[in-house]
Amino acid sequence: MRTVYVAEYPAIQHRHGDGQVVTVRLKRLPGGLRATCVGCETEFVYRKPTPSRTPHYKSPLLPPVKGNWDTGDENQ
Ligand SMILES: [Zn+2]
Repeated sequence: MRTVYVAEYPAIQHRHGDGQVVTVRLKRLPGGLRATCVGCETEFVYRKPTPSRTPHYKSPLLPPVKGNWDTGDENQ
């Protein structure tokens, strides 16, 4: 079983060898958000996008960016 880390939620689209696009949905399991595709024997594990090392300066012209990477539902 392969393990692939993804930053999408809740549906993961991927392509099988025959060209078919398959969608699997992440499930909340004890180890985190995971989905298993039996078709290609791949386990998808949700990872928060890692923060950029480049400093960002807030623009006063734009509202704060809302994302789903700071939900705090992972034990770290
Ligand atoms: Zn698959």
